[in-house]
Amino acid sequence: MDNKKLAGLLFPNIDKTPEYYEEKYPERGLEKGAMVTRLAPSPTGFIHLGNLFGAVVDERLASQSGGVFILRIEDTDAKREVEGAVELTISTMKHFGIEFTEGATSEGETGEYGPYRQRQRKDIYQAFAKYLVEQGKAYPCFCTEQDLEDIREQQKEAKIDFGYYGEWAKHRDMPLEEIEKNLAEGKEYVLRFRSEGKKDNYVKVLDGIRGEIEVPENIQDVVILKSDGIPTYHFAHAIDDHLMRVTHVVRAEEWLSTLPIHVQLFDALGFDKPLYCHTAQLMKVDNGNKRKLSKRKDPELGLDYYRQEGYTVDAVWEYLLTILNSNYEAWRDKNPDADRREFKFTTDKMTKSGTLFDIMKLNNISKDVIAKMTAEQVYEGLSGWAKEYDEGFHDVISRAEDKTIKILNMGRNAKKPRKDIVTWSQCKEFIKYFYNEYFEVLDEYPGIPQDKIKKILTEYIDTYNHADEKNDWFEKVKVITESAGYTTNTKEYKEDPEKFGGSIIEVTTIIRIALTGKANAPDIWEIQQILGKEDTMKRMQDALNKL
Ligand code: GLU
Repeated sequence: MDNKKLAGLLFPNIDKTPEYYEEKYPERGLEKGAMVTRLAPSPTGFIHLGNLFGAVVDERLASQSGGVFILRIEDTDAKREVEGAVELTISTMKHFGIEFTEGATSEGETGEYGPYRQRQRKDIYQAFAKYLVEQGKAYPCFCTEQDLEDIREQQKEAKIDFGYYGEWAKHRDMPLEEIEKNLAEGKEYVLRFRSEGKKDNYVKVLDGIRGEIEVPENIQDVVILKSDGIPTYHFAHAIDDHLMRVTHVVRAEEWLSTLPIHVQLFDALGFDKPLYCHTAQLMKVDNGNKRKLSKRKDPELGLDYYRQEGYTVDAVWEYLLTILNSNYEAWRDKNPDADRREFKFTTDKMTKSGTLFDIMKLNNISKDVIAKMTAEQVYEGLSGWAKEYDEGFHDVISRAEDKTIKILNMGRNAKKPRKDIVTWSQCKEFIKYFYNEYFEVLDEYPGIPQDKIKKILTEYIDTYNHADEKNDWFEKVKVITESAGYTTNTKEYKEDPEKFGGSIIEVTTIIRIALTGKANAPDIWEIQQILGKEDTMKRMQDALNKL
């Protein structure tokens, strides 16, 4: 077989050679140990936690070692592509504090190793495909869907492995004349890699997370170029990672099964292999069983979820680092205020199997992160979130910025600061009663006679003086309690509730509900100071009028 002739027939317009590209994209000349990583999302419109999980690893490895972190868009599958997905990927990553040093950007791209969108690299892939054909390592396959289906049927009957391999690889040794004839007839074909792999052979591969692993050698003649000349993932990523001089390929565990193909392709192309780092699957505990996070069942898989709920980027990073490196939590305990970038991230501290994603743990971390913020920082975070997801609320708090900061400052400077805010959306729920636009009475008054409630509220309004210090205010509440025939001694009340019918707890609960709409809210006196005299009185009066 004249392979050169075949290559010329298949790729008449490809005049560049692999040498040309090797020269065009030379070794990077970085310092020893500098790592080149890449995030290679497909623009399907769904950006998930797995993407961010991998991106954190990529970013840490590259940035820590003075290397390069590339964004490459793997858009070879036009059918799965969703409009605007690239922009969404870029803006989402940016939101989560992932910064690329090179690659696709919303305006185009930056860097010397592009193009960074696979569809624009067609000629490059074809040059390497042509080279493989010249070497007798790739060939055209004209099998139709039906031919492949027939092969499968026969293999099923014979109870042997499925696929296009060995004697089943029908077009592997097609004579040149027949190929020429097919091409002349305009028959569609794909380009397949000629595998020299042997069944039951194993190859050793070093994985950055798993150490040395043994995988079965690939025996399949996999497709490397589809009928439209666009490469498959297997081929494209090999060319790209090589020419972009990527040193560490961090990707999901699901790629382990096709690793044997990748290893073979790198060898056939004469490329040095990058260090593959296959991250463990993200799992959750559901009804006591561990299972993979699923797009259909678990909203928390999508990164949108965290933005909409309003998780801080710091909390998400903090949590991801916790599950990514087993020694991160201990480091954080020792260095509570250190910048997380000071932590030395390594792939050897990553789990090999099933990373447990526990949203409760993220929530706890989130509470700590927000508890450490100043009221002004909390305001910034809340306002940034509201601007994007709750315009009405954004207007309300922007009009009352000083008041909002005071609200957010409640309990913040105490010895044990409040640790109740997990997300910005929840923060809104906590504080919205402060604003008349949202105020509504949600809880019911304690079960005491209506006329008592009236009496309590009336006396409260009559004796209220906004200038009262907290103690004076409380003394008045005590007087009202006693005047209602209730006790100020809660212990005494608990011992014999019948005797008193109610205590100061009932009284403060009535005031609290009238003021905030809820039985559980922070300190009444403080709330009143923030609300101001007018709103305080109006709420009390409204509560009384409704009775
Ligand atoms: N485009 C692939 C994906 O989105 C990337 C896999 C890789 O990182 O190599 O799953």
